[in-house]
Amino acid sequence: MNQFQYVRPTKQKAAIDALAKDANAQIIAGGTNLIDLMKRGVMAPQKLVDINKLPLNKIERDGSNTRIGALALNGVVAEDKLVLEKHPLLAQALNAGASAQLRNMATVGGNMLQRTRCHYFYDTALPCNKREPGSGCGALEGFNRMHAIFGFSDKCIAVHPSDMSVALVALDATVLVSGPKGDRRIPFIDFHRLPGDTPQKDTNLEPGELITAVDIPDAPFTKNVHYLKVRERASYAFALVSVAAALNIENNTIKDARLAMGGVAHKPWRLTEAEKSLVGKPATEETFRQAAEVAMRGAKAFKYNQYKLKLAPNSIVQALKTAAAVA
Ligand SMILES: Cc1cc2nc3c(=O)[nH]c(=O)nc-3n(C[C@H](O)[C@H](O)[C@H](O)COP(=O)(O)OP(=O)(O)OC[C@H]3O[C@@H](n4cnc5c(N)ncnc54)[C@H](O)[C@@H]3O)c2cc1C
Repeated sequence: MNQFQYVRPTKQKAAIDALAKDANAQIIAGGTNLIDLMKRGVMAPQKLVDINKLPLNKIERDGSNTRIGALALNGVVAEDKLVLEKHPLLAQALNAGASAQLRNMATVGGNMLQRTRCHYFYDTALPCNKREPGSGCGALEGFNRMHAIFGFSDKCIAVHPSDMSVALVALDATVLVSGPKGDRRIPFIDFHRLPGDTPQKDTNLEPGELITAVDIPDAPFTKNVHYLKVRERASYAFALVSVAAALNIENNTIKDARLAMGGVAHKPWRLTEAEKSLVGKPATEETFRQAAEVAMRGAKAFKYNQYKLKLAPNSIVQALKTAAAVA
C-alpha cells in the first residue's frame, strides 16, 4: 500500500503552501476520479491536499459574468437557477455526465482535471506515455476505438473525457487560478493541452496552482442550444462523440454561433472555423451540413475509430438542428 499524507487546510494560502512544499502533492476535491486512480496504482501522490474546507462553492454574478466556484458540485450547478437562465448549454452538458450520485460528489475544478479514460492509461501493465513518459503508446497500434481524430501526436492519442468542459470551451469561459506566483486567468480554450511530446501534461496549470473558479460571460445563447452526447449506453458512459451547439438566430438568420466537440481530441475541441461558416446563413440543414464539413477538415482516424469520421459530422448536424429546432 502507498502511504500518503493528508491535510485539510481552511485557508486558500495554506492550501497553496501545502502544494508548493511537495512536488508530488495532489489536490483532492470530490475524489471521484483521483481515488479511483490511486486504487489502481495509476497515480500515487505522497500528499493529498483536501480543499473541501475552502469557501469555493458559490455560484454568483460578477459584472457580466457568471462565476462558478471550483468546489461547486456538478449536480448543483446543473440545477442552479442562474445557470439554467443564462447558460442552459452548460446545464445540459453537466446532466449528460456520469450519474446523479457522481454529479453530487464531483466538483467543477475536478471535472476539468479528470484524467483520460484511455484503457492504456488505466492499465499499469500496458505502455502509456501519459502515465509513464517514454514507455510508448499502446493505443496507437492497439484497441483505439474511443480515441482521438484531431490534434493527436505519435506519443498519445487519448481523448479528454469531460462533458462539462465541452460546453465551457464553447461558451468562452475563463479559468481563475491561484498559485505561489499569485492569481491569473486562463481562457478555457488554452486551459487543456494537445499531447505533443509531453502527453503527461493535460493542462497549462503550473505546479502548485489551484483552480478557484470559472467565469462564463453573458452571451445571447440562452434559447437555441443543445448538447448532444453519443455513447454506448444511455447513461453512465463517456462520450464517443459529443457536440455543444449554441446559436443566436434572428429571423431565421444565424447571427452568431458556438460549436465544440468532445470525445475527439486530447482537449475539448472548439470548432471556430465551422462557427464562422454558420454566421449570416439561414438556419437550415444544408447550412449545418456545410459547417460539419468545415469542422471535419484535418480529421484522421485509426484502425478502430473510423466510425468517428461519420459519427462526428452527423452529430454536429443533429446538434445544430436540435438547437435551431429545425425538423
Ligand atoms: C463511473 C463514472 C462515470 C463517469 N462518467 C462521466 C461522464 O459521462 N462525463 C464526465 O464528464 N465525467 C464523468 N465522470 C467523471 C467525473 O465527472 C469526474 O470524476 C469528476 O468530475 C471529478 O471531480 P472531483 O471533484 O471528484 O475530482 P477529484 O477526483 O477530487 O480530482 C480530480 C483531479 O482534479 C484535481 N483537482 C480537483 N479540484 C481541483 C482544483 N480546484 N484545483 C486544482 N486541481 C484540482 C485533483 O488534484 C485531481 O487530479 C465519471 C466518473 C465515474 C467514476
